[in-house]
Amino acid sequence: MSIYASRPWLARYRSGTPSDITPEHDSLLAAFEASVQRNPTAPAIRYFDGTLTYEELDRRSRALAAGLVARGFAPGDRLALYLQNNPAFVVGLLAAWRAGGSAVMVNPMNKHRELTYLLQDSGASALLCLDELYEAVAADVLAKEETAVRTVVTCSALDDQGRNDPRLFPEPIRRRLDGPVDLVALVEEHAGADPGRPLPKADELAMLTYTSGTTGNPKGAMSSHGNVAFNAQTYRDWIGLGADDVILGVAPLFHITGLIGHIGAALLVGCPLVLAHRFEPNVVMDAIREHRPTFTVGSITVFISLSGVEGSTREDWASFRAVYSGGAPIAPAVTEQFEAKTGLYIHNIYGLTETNSPSHAVPLGSRAPVDPTSGALSVGVPTFNTVVRILAEDGSEAPVGEVGELATSGPQVVAGYWNRPEATAESLPGGELRTGDVGFMDEQGWFYIVDRKKDMINAAGYKVWPREVEDVLYGHPAVKEVAVVGVPDPYRGETVKAYVSVKPGASVTEAELIEFAKAQMAAYKYPRSIEFLDELPKTVTGKILRRELRERAKEGSG
Ligand code: AMP
Repeated sequence: MSIYASRPWLARYRSGTPSDITPEHDSLLAAFEASVQRNPTAPAIRYFDGTLTYEELDRRSRALAAGLVARGFAPGDRLALYLQNNPAFVVGLLAAWRAGGSAVMVNPMNKHRELTYLLQDSGASALLCLDELYEAVAADVLAKEETAVRTVVTCSALDDQGRNDPRLFPEPIRRRLDGPVDLVALVEEHAGADPGRPLPKADELAMLTYTSGTTGNPKGAMSSHGNVAFNAQTYRDWIGLGADDVILGVAPLFHITGLIGHIGAALLVGCPLVLAHRFEPNVVMDAIREHRPTFTVGSITVFISLSGVEGSTREDWASFRAVYSGGAPIAPAVTEQFEAKTGLYIHNIYGLTETNSPSHAVPLGSRAPVDPTSGALSVGVPTFNTVVRILAEDGSEAPVGEVGELATSGPQVVAGYWNRPEATAESLPGGELRTGDVGFMDEQGWFYIVDRKKDMINAAGYKVWPREVEDVLYGHPAVKEVAVVGVPDPYRGETVKAYVSVKPGASVTEAELIEFAKAQMAAYKYPRSIEFLDELPKTVTGKILRRELRERAKEGSG
């Protein structure tokens, strides 16, 4: 028996946190129903000055589900959600489930190329879309490209003063196409209706969340209803959340952290979720002052920028009893500075899209130790019912203290990727997730991430996959070869840099190439700098030596 099996999560026991929990719900939809029944008039969502109660949220999502079904949305169909953090996101998610289907998460920063890919790959038959994104991107995509989308529902986040409309879903702007139907109109048309479909089973598909791999195009990680419900419960039980809590939603809802740690946790316990349409530090600080949140989870850069808001005081933070940060490494000095300013300790939390948010977290009230060799802050201990092995190069389990790849299994781990049996077999052999993250466990059972096997670049929690950026740059006629790497960045942790060699006789400037990339991808992905080389370094077999370029970028030699 391995040391990991025989000494399960020492630190977890030491901290008094139980090792396992019993899953309570097959789906978040069932958990939400229970919350509606417990307290229908409790606030579910607070958004600027508006509030949506649990029963209102329930009614709207049932009506939208009925509207989708009336337009041909069948069991097993997928509704793509392409919008910012606003109440319609939550209505749409619940409606997809009520209608017997699943949801596809789309980053609202995505442009034409990315949206087209996600709609085609997921085969979504319906799209819920912010009207400004419809105008700017989706209308073109749907007009020009072959997708399976038959129904488009648009909604507006703000009124013409830029403030939230009291009804939360103001009138749509007029547009030339007959295609899209307005969310308000659809919900009104089907008020009081319900598709009458059975509650989802634990192993049915709840959503597709796209994440890449070393092999290029993003893949849809298939979260089951059981996965989602389990990790919503993990948040609840790890932190001890209840109906008196108020959750601040600062992470994007389309990302797994926001989905599970905000929507999942709030709907399960029946507490309010405070949303801000875009992350603007001043607006979020006003929401903190007004709604007095008790818990949040987000990326470290969010907390740094919030603590830097002019005029903010320690008192602003006094309502919080738990703040967690995940998605990217945290420098220990940053948590210390934040604590000195706000009086709050930031707890580290770690996981992947494929683990539906946490697989590790620092127990509430504990402080993560720092590894003296690497300087890494511990990501905590495995969360409930989760087994983590550290695998050496040869696939055997590494001894305690030795570095290897983290391999995770548990009730929150996805079963696979949408329509990608090979990628599933490679990343999830036997149902155990090969995370691509490299780290170790110490004698006390604390885990540390010290390196990465995968090529991913982590820009403030937003993941950039070099292959995708390279593929776009290869589309420029002057580019002969390109390699994209992460460069250390004081604020984002890492930022994107491209090394490019140009075809003989061709010429292009750094600014032109950056513009070319920027037009085709979400803002966090395009290269912030480009360095031209005569030749890119290669192995004897002609493979570009990305690691060498990474080192070169790190040393600042180029
Ligand atoms: P995503 O699929 O976007 O959630 O990204 C998952 C990746 O983010 C992991 O594989 C890690 O590389 C990184 N990550 C997440 N949480 C942490 C953390 N607390 N510390 C260091 N890296 C993290």
